[in-house]
Amino acid sequence: MDFALSDQEKMLQAVAKEFAVKSVQPRAAEVDRSGEFPVDLAREMGRRGYYGLPYPSRYGGSGAAYLGHVLVLEQVCQASMTAGAIMAINTVPEEAVFIFGNEEQKEAFLVPLAQGRLLGGIAFTEAETGSDPKAITTLARKSGSGYVITGEKHFVAMAPALNLVLLFARREGAGLNAFIVDTSSPGFIVRAPYDTMGLRGLGTSVVELDGVYVPQENLLGKGGQGFDILLRVMNLARMSVAVEGIAVAQSALELSLEYARQRKALGKPIAEMPSIQWHLAEMAARIEAGRWLAYRTAFLRDQGQDIGYESSVAKLFASQTAVEVTRMAMQVHGSYGTTRAMPVERLYRDAKMTEIYVGVSEIQRSIIAGHLLGKRRSK
Ligand SMILES: Cc1cc2nc3c(=O)[nH]c(=O)nc-3n(C[C@H](O)[C@H](O)[C@H](O)COP(=O)(O)OP(=O)(O)OC[C@H]3O[C@@H](n4cnc5c(N)ncnc54)[C@H](O)[C@@H]3O)c2cc1C
Repeated sequence: MDFALSDQEKMLQAVAKEFAVKSVQPRAAEVDRSGEFPVDLAREMGRRGYYGLPYPSRYGGSGAAYLGHVLVLEQVCQASMTAGAIMAINTVPEEAVFIFGNEEQKEAFLVPLAQGRLLGGIAFTEAETGSDPKAITTLARKSGSGYVITGEKHFVAMAPALNLVLLFARREGAGLNAFIVDTSSPGFIVRAPYDTMGLRGLGTSVVELDGVYVPQENLLGKGGQGFDILLRVMNLARMSVAVEGIAVAQSALELSLEYARQRKALGKPIAEMPSIQWHLAEMAARIEAGRWLAYRTAFLRDQGQDIGYESSVAKLFASQTAVEVTRMAMQVHGSYGTTRAMPVERLYRDAKMTEIYVGVSEIQRSIIAGHLLGKRRSK
């Protein structure tokens, strides 16, 4: 077992940190306050090759592996979880095409996504469900040499900025299917973004599909393979959310250390109080554990192993860590922490999102228990 990062990985991490501190962090508060999707940051991350880190160069990627993706994502999320989420969500359709796409689909979709020329997302959730694929009602009807999709998807992240979306729809007699949908298609209608408490500026919106035509070549995998595709891409998405949680927690710890050193009570810095030190130590211990869970999940994915179990364990633990650590950070900051002027308040709101999106914690527990008991996984 080798826990050391290679020189190349350290370099990737250092460059990402510099970018995050210089270019992302100064924008974080404004993106959160305005709720505006940061188009320029999304473009810049694409230019830097941050959307194609896990994939080989023949598919437009940089071959930095899943561990490279995790290392960069962690740095970006420490500066702004919204910016990191943009990077993470873009890899979801990439992963689907990488695993299930034919060579033509990889050329048409994976290459431009990985090179940052197109922005991709995922549309699974509907008004009645975000957890149960069986409850999906969006329909794809055969029409000529393609399909016509009708329905409504809720909580589609980055919807106003997306070029294509990995969309899950039911086909009569052919179960759940995954399509790559061009968002400029007639009938693809993006509604106003939700006003969410955290992950603000992600452009998370309702999308109406009013008879959207999708050519046959945009059907991913075999007909009816949608559920398998969903399971596989969710593994990667969960690993990324684990990283988001750890990064937000790390930022909260760093802010707390800084604040505790300069804030005085009873004539001395609060950092000298055992109760504050207890908080700081708890924060650090949980972050360390969560970080290694996330890194190990990436390592296993790089070995070509299934990460269904590990990604759920990592997401469950890291999201709980994010919520607990940011709660402790608020406690360290006292009243000032509750003001919008302090970044810890944004971290507290962002942290909660990691327990909800890409599968609520209850679903992660159900997946983990299913593995322990040898039962079938669910989303
Ligand atoms: C900012 C943001 C961005 C998002 N981005 C996307 C996106 O890009 N694409 C997309 O498709 N979706 C996206 N989502 C949707 C998100 O992934 C789902 O909302 C989430 O998975 C939860 O689904 P739900 O809200 O329908 O919860 P529900 O399924 O209604 O669950 C509500 C509660 O019921 C309980 N529950 C439900 N099912 C079970 C079960 N099987 N076992 C035990 N308890 C259960 C849990 O307590 C759960 O918290 C996003 C959401 C947010 C907030």
